[in-house]
Amino acid sequence: MELGDIKIDLIQKNIKNVHLSVMPPYGDVRISAPLHLTEETIRLYAISKLSWIKKEQKKIRSQARESKREFINKETHYFQGRKYLLEIIEDDLQSKIVLQKKHIQLFVKPNTNTEQCQLIFNEWYRSHLKKVIPTMIKKWEKILGVELRGFGIKQMKTKWGTCNIEVKRIWLNLELAKKPLHCLEYIVVHELVHLLERNHNERFLALMNKFLPDWRELKSELNKLPVSHSDWGY
Ligand SMILES: [Zn+2]
Repeated sequence: MELGDIKIDLIQKNIKNVHLSVMPPYGDVRISAPLHLTEETIRLYAISKLSWIKKEQKKIRSQARESKREFINKETHYFQGRKYLLEIIEDDLQSKIVLQKKHIQLFVKPNTNTEQCQLIFNEWYRSHLKKVIPTMIKKWEKILGVELRGFGIKQMKTKWGTCNIEVKRIWLNLELAKKPLHCLEYIVVHELVHLLERNHNERFLALMNKFLPDWRELKSELNKLPVSHSDWGY
């Protein structure tokens, strides 16, 4: 089905309600509709949702764009929720990153390619997380009365964090280094609460409400900030 310049993937099946979704990474639109609805009805429904669809597509596409870094001067990079402009400084010595007030300085050898720059950044992000996370874990282990055996940092496509209850280990998304510390802390708390409750059920919500009453605001702040393509869907 086509709606102006928007192509809609329409699936009719044995369901009760109409589901509309705009999907990353390209903002493809999909409608699942009950069998008994006519195409005309579905079209009218889609038209009524047009401004929402366009808004979602814009959001998704700008997020996807944000993920492709070229490592050129004045490019925007994020650290702890703040925006910095990249300043590339050619240097024959060891490559490093230095944080200034408004700039992130990347010292690299001449002819360093994009992938290498990305790796340097990733390592820098990783070392930052390794520095700040242990303190957060210690604090929240005490508050929640739980004990963690370890944590790891990795790049994840669809999640901010995961918790392996059996081995008492949490994994945190490297992308969190770009987010404000209080958003990182929210994810740490969320994963630690899984040591008390495995599922996202009523009890889990009650625990979150008790220990981190403003978690909903933190969550929406986390998901509203510029994110890379790997962040959606948490
Ligand atoms: Zn969870």
